[in-house]
Amino acid sequence: MTQDAIHLQALRKTYIGKRGQPEKHALKGVDLHVPRGSVFGLLGPNGAGKSTLINILAGLVLKTSGKVTIWGFDQDANPRQSRAAIGVMPQELNLDPFFSPRGALEVQAGLYGVPKTERRSDEILEMVGLSDKANAYARTLSGGMRRRLLLGKALVHHPHILVLDEPTAGVDIELRQMLWENIRKLNDQGMTIILTTHYLEEAEEMCDEIAIINQGSVVARDTKNNLLGRLDAKTMVVHPDSPVTVLPQAPGIEAELRSDGALLLRYQSRVTRAEQVLAAIHGAGITIRDVKTEEADLQDVFLALTAST
Ligand code: ADP
Ligand code: MG
Repeated sequence: MTQDAIHLQALRKTYIGKRGQPEKHALKGVDLHVPRGSVFGLLGPNGAGKSTLINILAGLVLKTSGKVTIWGFDQDANPRQSRAAIGVMPQELNLDPFFSPRGALEVQAGLYGVPKTERRSDEILEMVGLSDKANAYARTLSGGMRRRLLLGKALVHHPHILVLDEPTAGVDIELRQMLWENIRKLNDQGMTIILTTHYLEEAEEMCDEIAIINQGSVVARDTKNNLLGRLDAKTMVVHPDSPVTVLPQAPGIEAELRSDGALLLRYQSRVTRAEQVLAAIHGAGITIRDVKTEEADLQDVFLALTAST
């Protein structure tokens, strides 16, 4: 019995090249585990393989090889149970234009074999803010409403795990906040959340644990805080009293003059102390008017890990 919500072992996906295209190794042996109860961020640039991974979990894309375990159920041995454990909000807005939101939820519940007495379409419509559109045609819904309906559809069978593929790509601030509120509420109720994003602030704000995926491989997987601590990079931002003519030079310190005249000094706090940076500044004859330091943020970690090789 595993405590993981998701466990992936050596997961590979190779798309067969069509019309003379070369085959594409979208996932190159991914090992990953997602703890139950977490908000897990799968972060990576476009084309990294995030949707491929999500769609394999959802049963929409066939893996090439490897083992997928969802809520303790092997996807090959127990396809029905593993499918029931997970609800997926896909990246594309694929909705049948002829169903109303209520109709779409009922059809989805039927597909998942949820008995009529256990359906809670009204509750879900309320949660995603579509009660007043319950009977409108899907084709009359705005993009934001469609996205909310897709979230609702992912929830009809009471899944343990909710997966959201780029839930906030191209949505306005209001909808983004609503989605986040819903996600937090569901997680508070015990649901495991997995989301993909290429917005770093989003992962930084929402996720407890993060995996960074690049070109089909997981390049980092850690708690958010460890990931942020990993790069231990600091930047000292100095506003000099008069324009800088000579850049400070010292081992372990990288100096750069910003176009607004500020001096940036990058260093690793594990090897270089702030006094040494300040000494180098004084050594270059610079008088400090104002100074502050900045920690690495997820952006720095991300860039360092996905820098193309
Ligand atoms: P992400 O969601 O991280 O942007 P995807 O999983 O969509 O990445 O894509 C990963 C790689 O696989 C990309 O190079 C993409 O072009 C390729 N790919 C995705 N779907 C297909 C497909 N159906 N056929 C061929 N190649 C695909
Ligand atoms: Mg994608």
